[in-house]
Amino acid sequence: MNKRNFMKSLFTTAITVLWSRAFSWASEHKLTNWAGNLEYSTARLYAATSLADVRQFVTANSQFKVLGTRHCFNEIANTDKQFLSLRSLDKVIELDPKRRTVTTEAGMSYGQLCPYLNERGYALHNLASLPHISVAGACNTATHGSGIKNGNLATQVSALEMVTASGDLLKLTRDKDGDTFRGAVVGLGVLGVITKVTLDLNPAFTLKQYVYENLPFDQLQQKFDLIEASAYSVSLFTDWQKHRINEVWLKVRTDAEPQFDPKPQFFGAQLATKNLHPIAELSAENCTEQMGVPGPWYDRLPHFRMGFMPSAGKELQSEYFVPRRHAVEAILAIERLRDKVTPHLLISEIRSIAADDLWLSTAYKQESVAIHFTWKQDWPAVSKLLPEIERELAPFNPRPHWGKLFTMSSAHLRSRYERLPDFVALARKLDPHGKLRNKFLEQTIFDQRSI
Ligand SMILES: Cc1cc2nc3c(=O)[nH]c(=O)nc-3n(C[C@H](O)[C@H](O)[C@H](O)COP(=O)(O)OP(=O)(O)OC[C@H]3O[C@@H](n4cnc5c(N)ncnc54)[C@H](O)[C@@H]3O)c2cc1C
Repeated sequence: MNKRNFMKSLFTTAITVLWSRAFSWASEHKLTNWAGNLEYSTARLYAATSLADVRQFVTANSQFKVLGTRHCFNEIANTDKQFLSLRSLDKVIELDPKRRTVTTEAGMSYGQLCPYLNERGYALHNLASLPHISVAGACNTATHGSGIKNGNLATQVSALEMVTASGDLLKLTRDKDGDTFRGAVVGLGVLGVITKVTLDLNPAFTLKQYVYENLPFDQLQQKFDLIEASAYSVSLFTDWQKHRINEVWLKVRTDAEPQFDPKPQFFGAQLATKNLHPIAELSAENCTEQMGVPGPWYDRLPHFRMGFMPSAGKELQSEYFVPRRHAVEAILAIERLRDKVTPHLLISEIRSIAADDLWLSTAYKQESVAIHFTWKQDWPAVSKLLPEIERELAPFNPRPHWGKLFTMSSAHLRSRYERLPDFVALARKLDPHGKLRNKFLEQTIFDQRSI
């Protein structure tokens, strides 16, 4: 099947999947993740409607997992026992103009929260490629956007409230709880049930989005740092063919000094003449406005619009974080695999993330570049490719995205996260009997075998 026909069939299947996904969510017999690549091991789901409900559920059950908006591709959220959902707990609890923070219930999604903040003159510093995901689920897996000065979304968290395995309420703040707080924010869902999240706010801002096509890899090799620094947020999309970046997405602030000048050429790439989807064959209708049209931060930072299907739908995703100083070498290492990678790929994206101090953050103490793969939904093929990619990136000690597909061992993870042993100790203290653990977490986080 050629690429055009493949995209057509993908789109039709995606619509079908959307419908069947909505059905499976309601069905008693089948519950899947968003992409439909994972059927969870149980469909038993308890929907809490109050804090008292959450505490009662936690006390009454010996093992369970919390589900957010189900956007992870791997088994991090899976269980064969029972799910707890906080999706109906989605209210703003407090907007504090003095401290410039907002506190929300944990079922809140960015799509719900952002317009509320914008109407009141506030913004979050960054967002992921889509607003559909829950705040608690996103921060738990170190979800990120792009920008050399922008930390991931978990860095916005200044306080957390959670119900721990004993049913007790634990409140942690950045100011008072130092190390424990830094250990808990990217918590992978194993430390407790997050019931409230407090986020830092910035004044609302306006962005313009410009897309350039066909940036030669030679330019990337020579000018990577300049390219990455050229806008508030920069995303590079490539299919790894023809030694070029297919699309460069620049999100520029209208209050930036000096102002970005959208010349027809950008490091050898040409200014696009219409809105584009990162997967060029798909309709840009699902994407946020480009062509330099100014718009509010929450309608430009994500690539995909709320109310529309993000990305391709029927897909898989993987992503690896390497130190930014090795970005070009790492990108060229993947390019060497291009003829193996491209046949299974919908698109790759390269983004920058600022370093932070959250124990299990993929950017822990490391200015980072993330190399992302949106795959066709063919796990047998992708599962063979991932070890090759991980081997190729091994000299740069890659850290995988916690919510996407990877194959590296727990020993490799431990060698790349110096605070992982402390995290395991914290998890064992808060949840001594492993109520919130599952097979995936036992294998990746709690397994103590060495390489
Ligand atoms: C189309 C698409 C685009 C994406 N784009 C990006 C991107 O741009 N950048 C990026 O970094 N990632 C991206 N992701 C990945 C995604 O952001 C993460 O997988 C994120 O974790 C999704 O949040 P969720 O609530 O849907 O996750 P879920 O899969 O529902 O949950 C994730 C984890 O959080 C835990 N959890 C959820 N809520 C709670 C709670 N209240 N208390 C305790 N634990 C909880 C779960 O148990 C699980 O361990 C994308 C995913 C998709 C499908």
